[in-house]
Amino acid sequence: MMYVSTRDKSVRVSAAQAITQGISADGGLFVPESLPALTPERIQKLASMSYIERACDILGDFLTDFSPGEVRSCAEAAYGGNKFGPEIAPISRLNGNTYLLELWHGPTCAFKDMALQILPHLLTRSAQKTAGDKQIAILVATSGDTGKAALEGFRDVPGTRIIVFYPRDGVSNIQKLQMTTQRGGNVAVCGVEGNFDDTQTAVKAIFTDKSLHAALEQKNIMFSSANSINWGRLVPQIVYYIGAYCDLAKNGEIAPGDPVNIAVPTGNFGNILAAYYAKRMGLPVARLICASNRNNVLTDFIRTGRYDKRREFFATASPSMDILISSNLERLLFDLVGRDDAAVRELMRSLAEEGFYDVPDSVRAALGESFWGGFCTEEETAATIRETFDKYSYLCDTHTAVGLKVRGDYLDETGDDTKTIVASTASPFKFAGSILEAVRPGSGIRDEFRQARLLAEISGMDVPPQILELESMPPRLGDCCGKEDMRRFVCEQLGI
Ligand SMILES: *Cc1c(COP(=O)(O)O)cnc(C)c1O
Repeated sequence: MMYVSTRDKSVRVSAAQAITQGISADGGLFVPESLPALTPERIQKLASMSYIERACDILGDFLTDFSPGEVRSCAEAAYGGNKFGPEIAPISRLNGNTYLLELWHGPTCAFKDMALQILPHLLTRSAQKTAGDKQIAILVATSGDTGKAALEGFRDVPGTRIIVFYPRDGVSNIQKLQMTTQRGGNVAVCGVEGNFDDTQTAVKAIFTDKSLHAALEQKNIMFSSANSINWGRLVPQIVYYIGAYCDLAKNGEIAPGDPVNIAVPTGNFGNILAAYYAKRMGLPVARLICASNRNNVLTDFIRTGRYDKRREFFATASPSMDILISSNLERLLFDLVGRDDAAVRELMRSLAEEGFYDVPDSVRAALGESFWGGFCTEEETAATIRETFDKYSYLCDTHTAVGLKVRGDYLDETGDDTKTIVASTASPFKFAGSILEAVRPGSGIRDEFRQARLLAEISGMDVPPQILELESMPPRLGDCCGKEDMRRFVCEQLGI
């Protein structure tokens, strides 16, 4: 299986090259040239397998330059042992035709673990194939969740170093503690005096700094990225959608071949795109419900065919979805315009230079066939958390609440009550303040650990130990710097 750039199809690389490079030199994203097929017989076979076996089977089709043994060792390193709960991605019925696929049983309590636990292994194998014995230095700019998930994923992975920058005053107390207490011999963390945009801009500049590359070359080190535009982060996400369907069939909730809908709380369009690929492979998925928060650029796009980033940015209670440019949408566009790289190039130029683009009617129609878009206000998010808890004794997080609410709106508007898998993307304890305020308004408790303990008491759930332990762990990575000193920090860490 080969991969091409969405902006230049003549750029054709192997899976290992796509993963090592992260992004194509022309700015495009790597996409598979074709998709493997999921026949009904194959789905039936997958249904009797464990998560790791399913991952090996599905990933093997995409990573054809990896041996089966290599794929297996990556999958076992990620999902074996005790890094996840007893089930990797459990699915259960919330009510009627609504099922929740919980993707947050990994080490950092958010769905990013599903991909960031395996990416380091895919990346080191890929680099061995394409870049010899170079050490990989991962640079991350994070607004919170990605940084911690990447640190946990890369921690003590041989041949890698990871350096995470976060806006010092732009993340929650728990998020900061998750990073500053990080264990591992190959990790570095630094708070930046500035906002997320400053941090990300400076990281991008370091990535493309020619003199730095020369110095790295001498030390036999190369930069890489753990960002969600990397194919190695997207492909592991296809596994759990197929797995969820298999589990529903295995448990008799659906008959083999029955269609399902999938609703996904969306930011960068990575998670829902994985569901789209599963559908294109042949998984019986009818509609993909794209749920946004108040930053509803995707809702407007799906409804009107115009993507317009020229709008106010809102900081919401579902911060991992506060995004105005959903990078992975480019991969969907490539598919919808009939894999016409020139058309994608023009759309992306328009977005960068004019701040918007319009897709042709044919694309808008194709989009509407597979997707339905909706969004949820802050008040509706809180109300959904409260109602879901009151009615079903189920405590969902703020991101998941957006997915549930929009799925409900879809049902009301279309009457389509096809069984629906809603992606549950974070543990409620990760956003304890907002959740507590939704179920017990006005509690007045400010300390996150007290909030979490009270939530546990109210819900009968346990606070995840990896959150509880932060309270007594001494921060060991307290470095801070100005944005102009980030390059120096990187050089110090890498000994150049
Ligand atoms: C990252 C994230 C999302 C958004 O996922 P995308 O792949 O960026 O669309 C949703 N919920 C949570 C909890 C996240 O961390």
